[in-house]
Amino acid sequence: MSRAIAGGRVYLVGAGPGDPDLLTVRAAAVLGAAEAVYHDRLVGGDVLALAPAAASVVDVGHRAGGGRRDLEDVIEQMAGCARRGLVVVRLKGGDPFVFGRGSEELQGLLAQDVPCEVVPGITSALAGPAAAGIPVTHRGLASSVVIVTGHGRDPERGPCWDRLRGDTVVVLMGGARLALLSAQMVEAGWDPATPAAVVMAATTDRQRQVSGRLDEIAERAGRAGLAPPSILVVGGVVALAGELMPAMLSAAVSSV
Ligand code: SAH
Repeated sequence: MSRAIAGGRVYLVGAGPGDPDLLTVRAAAVLGAAEAVYHDRLVGGDVLALAPAAASVVDVGHRAGGGRRDLEDVIEQMAGCARRGLVVVRLKGGDPFVFGRGSEELQGLLAQDVPCEVVPGITSALAGPAAAGIPVTHRGLASSVVIVTGHGRDPERGPCWDRLRGDTVVVLMGGARLALLSAQMVEAGWDPATPAAVVMAATTDRQRQVSGRLDEIAERAGRAGLAPPSILVVGGVVALAGELMPAMLSAAVSSV
């Protein structure tokens, strides 16, 4: 028995990494009852297709990721719909609280006393490696994982690599800066020979991946034509991909 879905509130929903089969049961139920859907660009058409035909569906990707004003405008629109009694769904790729600015939108809605419910999603930071046969932890190989954005405020300096230490590192939003990011990691002390992989459009029918040494992964990904959205995975666990890949849900996808 699933919980009731009420009008007059905003559901902040994680849409998972791409494959609609990877939505949570709650996400599918909420989406199926939606009257107004505000979604990020990364949410695919086959997930959006689960919303009723009568629902209004608005792509706010270009705005919610933009400046403060745009973010506030999206919050305003959703608050307005909720006040009119609608079931409002704010659909974000992966998990809404992993680099999705979902928490900022939630702060804005709660500040206006708009009732909200958060529906966690499967983050691409974990599902992406998994779909490529890469376990982010593995006994004897990796007992910690760090998830970091490659799109920080200061791209030249990058993330604070000196302070980051994880056996496995997963970089989101790094697709356009792979060469810079991998060079920064080597400079900060990672062995240039550390196994690395780039996984593009994980769990979708466009999924592709390349692997290689950290100091050559950017070039390989570039040569293979991998484009965003993609994640960079760095660590010894990447070497397990060849062995584990056949059992993955994406086993049919191409590996370059
Ligand atoms: N909240 C999202 C992340 C938003 S940031 C989550 O939890 O997954 C957007 C970044 O996520 C992209 O730049 C990319 O690095 C990553 N991403 C999202 N979906 C992806 C996918 N299917 N395959 C690879 N990377 C993905």
